[in-house]
Amino acid sequence: MSATSNQEHAISADTVMAVLEGIHAEVAELGMGEVASYIPELAEVDPALFGIAVCSAAGNVRTVGDADVEFSLQSVTKAFSYALAIEDNGLDFVLQRVGAEPSGEPFNAIRLDPTGRPPNPMVNAGAIVTTSLVHGADARERFERIAQFLGAAAGRSLSANDAVYRSEVLTGDRNRALGFLMRSAESLVADVDETLDAYFLQCAIEATARDVAVMGATLANGGVNPVTGVRVMTERTCENVVTVMASCGMYDFSGEWLLRVGLPAKSGVGGGLLASSPAEFGIGIFSPPLDENGNSVRAIAAARALAERFDLHIMHRGAPRTLSAR
Ligand code: GLN
Repeated sequence: MSATSNQEHAISADTVMAVLEGIHAEVAELGMGEVASYIPELAEVDPALFGIAVCSAAGNVRTVGDADVEFSLQSVTKAFSYALAIEDNGLDFVLQRVGAEPSGEPFNAIRLDPTGRPPNPMVNAGAIVTTSLVHGADARERFERIAQFLGAAAGRSLSANDAVYRSEVLTGDRNRALGFLMRSAESLVADVDETLDAYFLQCAIEATARDVAVMGATLANGGVNPVTGVRVMTERTCENVVTVMASCGMYDFSGEWLLRVGLPAKSGVGGGLLASSPAEFGIGIFSPPLDENGNSVRAIAAARALAERFDLHIMHRGAPRTLSAR
């Protein structure tokens, strides 16, 4: 691409801010959705909180609204435990234990594929297996490595909220059931209680929309955090993760999400959404009220508006690459 066409494609910070403010004001009006209620810590979160952050692949961050309020990352962490499981074991090994097919079912569905594998790493069953594949002597060490990995992607150290962790343990029987089912199917070979402990701890990790935007930009930037310059994962692992995020990251809405918004993304029941526009932007959005799939209502609407405004759909025909005659 020539310097001129680069300039033509550059979006000014002022434009980004004006667009973010417009989308935030418009989408804040949406009144649908219920905050997650399976644990008191999430049920008590203020439903009006709403933050949007974008981070360019060069590390420039712009935010609007409650982008510096910490929230429970929940399933947003699943993209990163998958990445770490691949870094530790290689994709072929991980694929033997966790599939890469959209499940077409709720995030906590109790169903394995015909080979006994969970459908993909972005739903609970799959994330329980990827957590078990992260190298570490015990649950604490596995969790610490996952938390450090997420922290490297966010550019600051992140930790789990202890009250959320304890509530996850108290209400986690469905996840335990999944663990035992997968152990009997031999897709999970580690100890169930220990694996679940590391899984519950990672669900309880907290971050802000700003952090999530930087994490998304790390994925947009081939695995290098553009703010700190630290390589968090290999380029190939990064490609693997954003691919599975694109097909499976939004639970049972993944197909329509890809159709309408067209970005690799991962949501969580804490109201967070991470989206990553390859080579361009990371997007972090936080708004607690959820739709029937467990995705944040406002985050979906805001991401969709952003993607439309900036033509971020991955199938959008950008500047064409040419093939030289020789
Ligand atoms: N802690 C939740 C669970 O395991 C996380 C799920 C989610 O964000 N969808 O059920």
